[in-house]
Amino acid sequence: MKRHTVAIAGTGLAALTAAARLTELGIKDIALYGNGFGGTPFIAAINFVLPENLYADTPQLYYKDMMQAGYGVSDPALVSRMAARSLDTYQLLCRWGVNFARNEDGSIKLRHVSGHSVPRSLCQTTHLIGVEIMNRLIPALKERGVEIHEGCRVVDLLTENGRAAGFTVSKDGELFQVYAPYVVAAWGGLGNLFGKSTYPDDVMGNTLGMAGLAGAELTDMEFIEFEPLVAIAPEGAVGEASPTAMLGEGGVLRNAEGERFLLKVRPQGEAGASKSLINREAWKQVAAGKGGPHGGVFLDLRPIGRKVLEGYPWFLNRLLAAGVDPDRDMLEIGPMAHSFSGGIRVDCSYESTIRGLYAAGEACGGIHGACRPAGNAGSQAAVSGMLCAEGIFSAAAGGDDFVPSEQPVRYREDPEVRAKYFPEIQQIGAEKLGIFRNGEALLAGISRLDEMTASGELDKDSFTRQSAAALLAILKAALWRTESRGTHNRLDYPETDPAFDGRNSVIAAN
Ligand SMILES: Cc1cc2nc3c(=O)[nH]c(=O)nc-3n(C[C@H](O)[C@H](O)[C@H](O)COP(=O)(O)OP(=O)(O)OC[C@H]3O[C@@H](n4cnc5c(N)ncnc54)[C@H](O)[C@@H]3O)c2cc1C
Repeated sequence: MKRHTVAIAGTGLAALTAAARLTELGIKDIALYGNGFGGTPFIAAINFVLPENLYADTPQLYYKDMMQAGYGVSDPALVSRMAARSLDTYQLLCRWGVNFARNEDGSIKLRHVSGHSVPRSLCQTTHLIGVEIMNRLIPALKERGVEIHEGCRVVDLLTENGRAAGFTVSKDGELFQVYAPYVVAAWGGLGNLFGKSTYPDDVMGNTLGMAGLAGAELTDMEFIEFEPLVAIAPEGAVGEASPTAMLGEGGVLRNAEGERFLLKVRPQGEAGASKSLINREAWKQVAAGKGGPHGGVFLDLRPIGRKVLEGYPWFLNRLLAAGVDPDRDMLEIGPMAHSFSGGIRVDCSYESTIRGLYAAGEACGGIHGACRPAGNAGSQAAVSGMLCAEGIFSAAAGGDDFVPSEQPVRYREDPEVRAKYFPEIQQIGAEKLGIFRNGEALLAGISRLDEMTASGELDKDSFTRQSAAALLAILKAALWRTESRGTHNRLDYPETDPAFDGRNSVIAAN
């Protein structure tokens, strides 16, 4: 058994920035429990509004871009706060030693990635920026006394009289309780809840169900981000997600007839196009018989030039290793589940509907709405980590002296139940929650999951029960939304709400 002032589930970007800010604010006894680093080491692009941005970027413009990309679904208060505190988060990372790539004249290198009206995406050009952040923050946090427990999976959330009290941890086959008056869910997003995705294996998505079963409200659960530029051919490159910055650098999209199909709906070109628009238009090409032999469309990197591609060494090297010559070959690409815009509902301090349970990064929802600009998952993880730390600091300063009581471990494991039901749960998700959905299929999935849950069998294996609860929440949200909006496309309701054209989002005052 362990006790802490703040217990954080996860060791990715949201967890690390939360711990960094808590440390700066003088909070003692902070502990992180994680079983890997989630999507963080893969982050190539992260957006911040910098005053020195030559493209005259402002928090207001960033707010507008986020609301527009979110198809009006995002919570304006959360988005406004994220835009307003973007610079503070960048400065927090700089204080902890994070270096961002610079141009020859010393200015910060800014890239133009999908969904932004100006270049505002920061990076590293020798390694991934996510790796840079981990390499700087992890040793510095340990040096300042923060406990980082690796190889730990949080398997249950503890509550007491309706407030957060800690969590149950599984490590090396042992279970133990961690008690804390302030708990941060920073366990990432959907992960591999229903099979194939770009997520690493340590993010499982059952955590959404864990939070829901503990009584936390969830939001925007129907919005799964499908990365549009994932290679589906040639063989060696399959699964490789091309950065959307490739379109900002001059790469273009073509159908099997060589046409730049996006220009018909976006005459200004591919640069900055939202992921949902790319996915929808690519699908139309495939449906019209203008797709490639593997059911995708083509990413043509040839206009970019080798020198620019060398600024993305992890990407270029993987292409070359797969036998792809970007000066000669086009990549056949298609969408793959990549990140999640829904999650635990939070207020502007990132506190959930359970007092003392905070959620940051991909674990929480409400910011991205129906779709997000590229690079904004990383920004959101960093900003929300910082803001939840400030929320905890304010709550602790209020003189709350809650000490959680000890409680028995409720988590249960039954390998037979897991083997019997979990593959079917994954299959239901994969079949019903693709990029195009329809009401009948969603309803069938819900009925089957309801049936499984009602049998009581799933209660013998908490992980399976949590996974079913997570999937059920997503299916229900997808059934409820009888329209196509952002990343959620209903074949039985194909039209995106015509009333929303992205311009009616109010510009934030700050
Ligand atoms: C291949 C790939 C490329 C990406 N590229 C970009 C990009 O360029 N720009 C961008 O903005 N976003 C990108 N993303 C998305 C981005 O990585 C995530 O949105 C971001 O890392 C979220 O940060 P997080 O801290 O919330 O979650 P994560 O970074 O996913 O970290 C989650 C943490 O929780 C831990 N965890 C999970 N379950 C449990 C559990 N039960 N108990 C304890 N710990 C647990 C994980 O091990 C990990 O430590 C990419 C994602 C992938 C998969």
